[in-house]
Amino acid sequence: MHAGVDVGGTKVLAVELAGAGDDLVVAATAQVPMPGRSASEAEVEDAVARAVLEVAAGRPLTRVGVSTAGLVDREGERVRFAAHLPWRDAPVRARLAERVGAPVVLANDANCAAHAELVAGALRGASSALLVTVGTGIGGAVVLDGRVVLGANGMAGEFGHVQVVPDGLPCECGLRGCWEQYCSGRALERVMRVALGSHLDGPEVAALARNGDPVARQAFATVGTWLGVGIAGLVSAFDPEAVVVGGGVSAVGDLLLEPARRRLLDALQATAYRDVPRLVATRFGPEAGAVGAALLADPARTPA
Ligand SMILES: [Zn+2]
Repeated sequence: MHAGVDVGGTKVLAVELAGAGDDLVVAATAQVPMPGRSASEAEVEDAVARAVLEVAAGRPLTRVGVSTAGLVDREGERVRFAAHLPWRDAPVRARLAERVGAPVVLANDANCAAHAELVAGALRGASSALLVTVGTGIGGAVVLDGRVVLGANGMAGEFGHVQVVPDGLPCECGLRGCWEQYCSGRALERVMRVALGSHLDGPEVAALARNGDPVARQAFATVGTWLGVGIAGLVSAFDPEAVVVGGGVSAVGDLLLEPARRRLLDALQATAYRDVPRLVATRFGPEAGAVGAALLADPARTPA
């Protein structure tokens, strides 16, 4: 069997696919929590292998696609740096292949998510598009001429560390005022902490917002507005036909996307004289990275 696995800041998600094209579905999943902020490289690799072996359920693995947060080199061999993971210039592809006992394909998580949406999701048929994932941090991918752009070092699309506020909030990457400090799961938690004086995690805030809680809805509106601020800059740079938004924070849908659409209209120049790109949710939601990784592992599921 082929598996795809997504390595995020808080959890590892492995999937098995069935079908192809419009009929592509996630047939099975396995989830393992990330062993904590101070986990070693080996502990993270253990968690990845556990999730993959759980979804395989004893069947032999043909190939495994690995989607990871962080900077992956162009060759798909090494994770150079990941703000929320311990890997530092680590030969992750080879290490994981040894642990799972099968060939591994390694790629950046947002690039995997964009691949999934291009093959079978919200970006089918798109030529120019952007993907923005709002999770623990922000990831991104650029699609030009129907293909995910890697960049000179494989690092294109790292939108989360574009500065939106000069001398703004400090970021784990070492810079200040990065977009993801204002638009991410952590930003959402911070806005709620300031409003309520107590800590709620992202899913708790989402549950409150869905139930109509005005403070939680306002927190999503604040983060959504920052989402629109950043996207407006990217639209000016890339002129995409669509911007697809994924990641855990986007699971609330229009509670996040509507404020972003409003801000995009306000912040983009000449909106009366251009097609404003559609701003939509991913088809595969929080599973997009893992689905894209599984598609990379099993190209036969990609229609010609
Ligand atoms: Zn940063």
